[in-house]
Amino acid sequence: MTGYISRNHTKKFSNEDYRKWFMNNCIPKFYNPSIHVLFNIGVLLAIIFFHFLRIEEFNQWSFIVMLIMLPVGNLTVTLIHQYPLHKRLKYWSFPYDAHTVQHHRFYTSEHILMNHKRELFVVMFPWFVVLGFATIIQPLFFYIFKILLGANLGHVISGSAACYFVFYEFVHTSNHLPLTHVVYKIPGMKAMRDHHLIHHNPKLMGSYNMGIVFPWFDYIFGTKWKSKDIPPDNINDHFIDLEKYKE
Ligand SMILES: [Zn+2]
Ligand SMILES: [Zn+2]
Repeated sequence: MTGYISRNHTKKFSNEDYRKWFMNNCIPKFYNPSIHVLFNIGVLLAIIFFHFLRIEEFNQWSFIVMLIMLPVGNLTVTLIHQYPLHKRLKYWSFPYDAHTVQHHRFYTSEHILMNHKRELFVVMFPWFVVLGFATIIQPLFFYIFKILLGANLGHVISGSAACYFVFYEFVHTSNHLPLTHVVYKIPGMKAMRDHHLIHHNPKLMGSYNMGIVFPWFDYIFGTKWKSKDIPPDNINDHFIDLEKYKE
């Protein structure tokens, strides 16, 4: 119930006040953004090297599977974003609290920029999620695919999944950087930033523009916001969906 309480407690705050409150009360004093980035990316790169260096034969099937992992990764992230991150699970509210309650309260469509490196605390995945991915989810999926498709393709799939995680962290973090940043020289980055900015509108966040990295499944699922206009950035809209969790 932490998120529920903290969201009600901050209901009267403007976005600016919430940011100040969060920076002073929710980010541990010992938090180091450089270590956070190095840990998340370092662990994911270690997984990528671990698997890709064990591919014994890289043939056309390996290449095809690697390409297929791009839409598979995109679908997985879109669904995770749509459900545990934006629909509160009854017995495990952490994903909802970390994403909807905190990340979306911190960044709205009119205030999407990171002002300080310490804000990476509320932008990147928590280190323990990456650790859980590396030590539980990755090995589990590798052994499942090893049994189903053989070790070679198991390594291709597992390494590609970790690659997609890196893409996610890179694109999502970039979405919160100013448009003058060098990352926007990469083709498509500005379009994904515009896509994500609409998602950060408090009224639209629960239903539209769930795709990160690519917007493919928003087009397929009909969750792409097509209008050129977005509703006013009314902070009270952020609390509408909380009403149904009151009981
Ligand atoms: Zn965001
Ligand atoms: Zn979201």
